[in-house]
Order: sequence, then structure tokens, then C-alpha cells
Amino acid sequence: MHPMVKPALRRGWRDLNTVQFGMAPAHALVLGPMDIATGGLLALLDGTRGLPLLRDEGDRMGLPEGHVDTLVERLAESGLLDDATGGGPAAAALREKEAVMERLRPDLAALSLVARGPGADMERLTARRTLRVQVRGAGRVGATLAALLAGAGVGQIDVRDGGRVEPKDVTPGGLPAESVGERRDLAARRAVRRAAPDRPPRASASPAQEEEPGFSLVILAPRNGVDVHAPDPADAEHLITSGTPHLYAGVVEGTGIVGPLVLPGETGCAGCLDQERCDRDEYWPRLVAQWRSGRRHRVEACDLALASTVAGLAAAHALAFLDGQLPSSAGARWEVSAPGFVWHARPLGPHPACPCAATGEDNEERTTPEGGEPDGTMTEQHPASSSSRTAHAARRSGTWRAHV
Ligand SMILES: [Zn+2]
Repeated sequence: MHPMVKPALRRGWRDLNTVQFGMAPAHALVLGPMDIATGGLLALLDGTRGLPLLRDEGDRMGLPEGHVDTLVERLAESGLLDDATGGGPAAAALREKEAVMERLRPDLAALSLVARGPGADMERLTARRTLRVQVRGAGRVGATLAALLAGAGVGQIDVRDGGRVEPKDVTPGGLPAESVGERRDLAARRAVRRAAPDRPPRASASPAQEEEPGFSLVILAPRNGVDVHAPDPADAEHLITSGTPHLYAGVVEGTGIVGPLVLPGETGCAGCLDQERCDRDEYWPRLVAQWRSGRRHRVEACDLALASTVAGLAAAHALAFLDGQLPSSAGARWEVSAPGFVWHARPLGPHPACPCAATGEDNEERTTPEGGEPDGTMTEQHPASSSSRTAHAARRSGTWRAHV
């Protein structure tokens, strides 16, 4: 172990014996009391020294015996410590790829803010490289989103769509102008390859490839506004029955939508959404039928910046899920509309009339993303870590995390 105070958090002394790690309240932590000599030791925890060397340095600085170990333990308990050599063999192999690491270093630092244990950030980063994600829809949102996931280190991204690239599909982060006229799926896959920091490790070739491995996540990013506003439950039926987690994202008219993230059998799905709307509005089915039948070729409104925003937020939710957390789109649709651009969540609960069976009794636990971590090391103020408890609850339930 080469202890390293997480470099993602900027340090500042609040007074002579209290250190604040981090600036933004979401991940900032105040630790104390800490004397000046111990504070000096912090500067040595930069990942270049192992524990024996640090103990020697502690001796030289006149610190009492055991002081170094106590400090390292306390920092680890507070989630402030990383291990520059941690994360296992896959992490060690990735560290060898310096160019790739230079690309991913900010993402690794971001992971260190949510992955508490030493080396956990590298574990997650290397896990991303083994995951398979499918993106359905390669328009302004889908192609950008797929490229973002690849750039963030997700190993395999399968983009599906039909037709050929049209000029209106071109986005700075997605399909390039040169791809106009090419098959949409092929052009999007090329954009994904271009965005990736390198080729991911080959999927571990199981001796008998008896069945195609499932996707860790499927993202539905339709180009059609109707499918964004009123997703057809039939399109996701096989995802529900196979227990495949899926996330919706897209733009309809002047509104961007991220969510819901559907964990089959646990959180509300497109069918639940449809049922809920039928409950609220008796004319809903009639409207949807008209919208779906009027699929003549027409120009869909899709603000470029809004589409990019949706792609970005959806990718962040997807990554949070793939990293083992539970983002707030599980059980909600996030919506943002021009011209105010205020994000707000519309909760989506399981509907008793929906066949997805997401009406189990332990759903309440996940729908209350509050509650801090009852950690009692030194005097420590930690803003509520909203997702850890809920993610744990979700992981415990199992089926849809079985692929990792
Ligand atoms: Zn449902």
C-alpha cells in the first residue's frame, strides 16, 4: 500500500488544527484536531512512499510511534485515503498504459470522490472496461451519449439504429459531418471508437461461448420525440423479462428527459409510466395513438445544446449505475425545458396494473435517498451521502447486478 490523500480534494486549514478537504459541499470533509506536525505528514502521503518509509519519516519528524499508522487509518476511515498501488492486477495493468491513464486521470479522480476505500476508484475504472452497454438510437442524443461512455472508459458499447446519417444528426460530440450518408449504426460505432481512450481488454473468452453475455445496461435514446415523451412499453418488454436494466434519454420538442432508469421488477418502467398517465388523463391513450400514427417524415425540434445536456446527464446517470451506485433517475424522470432550463424530477413509482412486477414491498427504501453516513471518526462533518445506502439496498437485491 502506498497511501495517498485523495488528490481530487483541495486542502485548506480552517484554523490551526482543523483541515478541510475539498471545496464543494457534496464531498468536502472537515477533519480535526490535527497538529501541525501531523499536517506536515499529510504532504508526504502522495502515493510515492510505502508505509515503512512513511514510518521512518515520522520518526525523523519526531512523531510518536504508531502515529503514522493511526493517521493513515483515520484518513481511510474518513474516505480520504487512496492507495497508489491498489485495485488489484487489472488496475496494475491499466497503470502500465500511461497514455490511457493520462486520458482517464480526471475520471479516476472523480471516481475517488464516490468510491471510499483505498484503491476502490481504480477498481471501478478497470471494471468499466469490462462492461457491455447498448445504446439504441444514434441521433443527437444517442451518438453523443455513446461517445461519452466510451470516453469515460466503458469497454464495449454497441450502438443500434437504422437508416443513414442525415445532416441533422451531426453534433460536435457525436456523429461528424463526414459521416453524412453512411449507415447510422456504423458511423456511431466509429464515433465511439474514436472517443475511447484505447481498445478495451478483450472480453475474457470463456471456453464455451454458450450464450452471448448480456448487457450491463441498455440505453434507449430514440430520435423520435414521441418515443421520448411516451415510450412504448412493448419496446422494452424483452428488457423487463430478461431483467436488463435500462435507461431512457431524449429530447421532445423543447424538453430534455433523462430517466427513468428501470431496474426490472424493482423500479417503475415505461409500462408504469403509461398506466400512471392513463390514470391521470383519460384521453392519454387517444393522444398517444394519434402521435404514433402521424409518423410522416417531419423535422423534430431538437435544440443542439439541450440534446448535448441530456446526453451528458444521461451518461453520468449511466456511469453512476455501472459503477455500482444508484442515481436519482431510478424511480424518476428528470426533465428540463427551454428557456428556463431548470431540472426537476417527476417521481415514477411502480404501478400495480403494470406487469413489470415492480410493486414489491421493499421499494420504499430506495425512494428515500436521504440519510448520511453514520461515521464517527475524529470529528467529521460529512454531507449526506445519498446514494450509498440506497445503492447497497439495490445491490443486495441482486438480479440486475449479477453481470458485474
Ligand atoms: Zn412497470
